[in-house]
Amino acid sequence: MAKKQFQAESKRLLDMMINSIYTQREIFLRELISNASDAIDKLYYKALVDDQLVFNKEDYFIKITADKASRTLTITDTGIGMTQEDLENNLGIIAKSGSLAFKKENELKDGHNIIGQFGVGFYSAFMVADVITVTSKTLGSSEAFKWESEGADGYTIVPTEKDSVGTEIILKIKENTEDDQYDEYLEEYRLKSIIKKYSDFIRYPIKMDVKGQRPKEGSDNEFEEYQEEQTVNSMVPIWRKNKNELTPQDYENFYMEKRYGFDKPLKHIHISADGAVVYNAILFIPENTPFDYYTKEYEKGLELYSNGVLIMDKCSDLLPDYFSFVKGMVDSEDLSLNISREMLQHDRQLTLIAKNIKNKIKSQLLSLLKDEREKYEQFYKSFGRQLKFGVYNDYGANKDTLQDLLLFYSSKEKRQVTLDEYVSRMPEDQKYIYYASGESIERIEKLPQIEVVSEKGYEILYFTDDIDEFAIKTIMTYKEKEFKSVSSGDLGIESDTDKEQTDAEESGSKELFESMQTLLSGKVSKVKASKRLRSHPVCLSTEGELTIEMEKILKAMPN
Ligand code: ADP
Ligand code: MG
Repeated sequence: MAKKQFQAESKRLLDMMINSIYTQREIFLRELISNASDAIDKLYYKALVDDQLVFNKEDYFIKITADKASRTLTITDTGIGMTQEDLENNLGIIAKSGSLAFKKENELKDGHNIIGQFGVGFYSAFMVADVITVTSKTLGSSEAFKWESEGADGYTIVPTEKDSVGTEIILKIKENTEDDQYDEYLEEYRLKSIIKKYSDFIRYPIKMDVKGQRPKEGSDNEFEEYQEEQTVNSMVPIWRKNKNELTPQDYENFYMEKRYGFDKPLKHIHISADGAVVYNAILFIPENTPFDYYTKEYEKGLELYSNGVLIMDKCSDLLPDYFSFVKGMVDSEDLSLNISREMLQHDRQLTLIAKNIKNKIKSQLLSLLKDEREKYEQFYKSFGRQLKFGVYNDYGANKDTLQDLLLFYSSKEKRQVTLDEYVSRMPEDQKYIYYASGESIERIEKLPQIEVVSEKGYEILYFTDDIDEFAIKTIMTYKEKEFKSVSSGDLGIESDTDKEQTDAEESGSKELFESMQTLLSGKVSKVKASKRLRSHPVCLSTEGELTIEMEKILKAMPN
């Protein structure tokens, strides 16, 4: 039986393409610039194999020109250009990608930079344009052609004149409507910011005529308007540069340019991974806590680039919650993009990258702790709370990753110590890791309960953050040592004589305790003698696992 071919309703398909694929209109510029960059790259690859062709990188550029009077936005490139047939095939057939074909024909594998693959990006320009006019002249041809379309109705191709090889795309920008604004795509500052956002690392200069004001020569207070051609993109991504060539200042500049924060980075991590998955990443640990960090508004995530083109602003899958403070970007050629190039198709590579990144962050934090203690303590002040939440959340699944990164104030050292430092200092007869909870260090120092433990010469960790005790309860043991609140019933240090003494005291003061209990009824459940007290006459304590501090927090939590 003869097989029938599927038919596509081109008009409807194009309509879907234009209106349903992309979530943001502004990406049309990313798509057209990517195409222009691909067109120049093709010349570059041709020159590699053709001795007759010389490729001087300096001669190639992309130019963006906006004209408000005629409502046109023009994207010009000095790339390989298109023949009449190319225009017919690549711009006339939806989902036909000349770039993908080029990659295949020339057997370009990993390491190439050609971006196009789906054959739909071009049509995104119809999101902002009523009419698109493409004039193109291809390498080695004397003829030029003009392709024009108003969208779903079809297109025309006619011969035309063009001086130089390359392509010029003119968009007639739509008029504003009540619901939709298009004027912004004719504004210099807006266009610049779109280029910066998505196409900053396109390897060829993206030029614009930029207007400015400057002081008039020979005058102090008069200004004159001027116009000059500027290159808007930075072109060479810092993450593709050799680490040895980069200074801390370079990373700091990148952090500020990218507006990852208003502070300075405390530490940068530059990763060039060449293993199971190939990617580059530059990550930062900020110096200060962002103002909205501990709120629902804060959004974690890293910028995700594919081949130097921004795909996602905040890819949250790349960071675990407990490292949500990390800023930065990841660039990979190995990602499988979906058709809008806004999302990823399969997350296997992404999962691998995320795991890799998590381990890198952890090891960098550990080395900061080891080698630059002061800096680590500064980091901990800003983000330690998040690490403790990380231990507590997910039923302690991440405690192994995080427990060595925790710091607590030590009664002995009078500063923050790690659990490892605590345990390594423990005298042989000490069974537990002791801690005391309270609002502040000063308050804790006044707690009657800490006296017995201190007297024994044991170190106590002071928990002043409401999450501390919850986190520790999740860890349960560290290096086989259990944690013990100084307020708990069995401290593991009473001797038998103490016990006898208390029993005796208790029986002797039975009446006193009974009258105290009546006086305090409803406020305390029991009054009894304590073997813990030294200089204080009384102390409050709880029965069971929860300490007073934990009860306070649980009570304050919304149900
Ligand atoms: P993709 O870039 O994914 O291939 P597009 O819809 O963006 O899909 O473009 C379709 C094709 O049109 C490209 O593959 C390329 O062959 C051709 N093309 C588009 N813009 C240009 C240009 N500026 N110069 C040369 N060829 C272009
Ligand atoms: Mg494209």
